[in-house]
Amino acid sequence: MKDKFILKMEGIAEKYKLIRKPALMAAAVYLAFYRFSSMIFENRRRIVSVVSILFPFAVVTSFAYPGSDAVSVLSGRVYMETVDGIVEIDELDDIDVEAVSATEEDIRALLDEKKDEEDIISKDPGTIEAGTRIYDEVNGYEEATFEDDWKLILINKENPVPDDYEFELGTIRGGIRSDVRVIEHVLEMIQAAKEDGVTLGICSPYRDYDRQVMLFERKVRSYIRKGKSEAEAYELASQTVAIPGTSEHQVGLAFDFISDDYKVLEAGFADHKAGKWLKANGYKYGFILRYPDDKENITGIEFEPWHYRYVGVDAATEIMTQGLCLEEYVEQIGLK
Ligand SMILES: [Zn+2]
Repeated sequence: MKDKFILKMEGIAEKYKLIRKPALMAAAVYLAFYRFSSMIFENRRRIVSVVSILFPFAVVTSFAYPGSDAVSVLSGRVYMETVDGIVEIDELDDIDVEAVSATEEDIRALLDEKKDEEDIISKDPGTIEAGTRIYDEVNGYEEATFEDDWKLILINKENPVPDDYEFELGTIRGGIRSDVRVIEHVLEMIQAAKEDGVTLGICSPYRDYDRQVMLFERKVRSYIRKGKSEAEAYELASQTVAIPGTSEHQVGLAFDFISDDYKVLEAGFADHKAGKWLKANGYKYGFILRYPDDKENITGIEFEPWHYRYVGVDAATEIMTQGLCLEEYVEQIGLK
């Protein structure tokens, strides 16, 4: 459609030398509009007003543009009115025009306001830092706290998955799923490991509650078969399999890794090159060794060199360089 239009305009420009310039200008504006439309669809911006397109060109006064919104052109920059206010949609080179629908000051003031808002709102919720002002439609601007940081949610025996915890599940491949916000990071890490000659396989990603129940009960039964009492079996099982409701796998933020030549979840993984690579490099991608061998008394979980938890690069760097576990870190930053 775009190409057709340009060709047509070029055709007109060839035929009628007199309107050559306006035709090319129109083509330029059309292109800008086309690009803007793509942007609109990508960003799913809500557009309210579809009114008219104004061309303050010296010569051209009537060009029909399908579906055109309230657009004004100011010194070669094109602005459009959306529910978010007037936004700049494109820059037109070599077109010197004046604003017609609003004074330059008006538009600049609106754009400044818009920009301030964008600076705050458009922050990826995953990178909110304490002290950041976040905008809430009901409460207006509020200080963000670490509690807003989904990456740092602490899940253990004392802190089960909150009943109202919600997140979007994303598929990595086949049945391998996780919190959608973590996917790019885990893939980036696997790729980086590959470049270092280390194969990482995801063996246990997101797990729903029922699956966790099944795994836990299976573990309890195995201890009972070994002659333990039910209470003993429960206690022992809880050290190696998270009690249902207390597994990070249930919130899609944890992964158990294996390698092409080490496919079991055993302590020996720590000495395997994949285990070593993860421990040395995981934090660069936001992942921490969640259950270190020297923190068993704090985490309540036995050493799991294969279990990595996404907490974001900043927290992961702190945790790994200070030799902490997540429980210690969230206490240090005052979250718990
Ligand atoms: Zn795990």
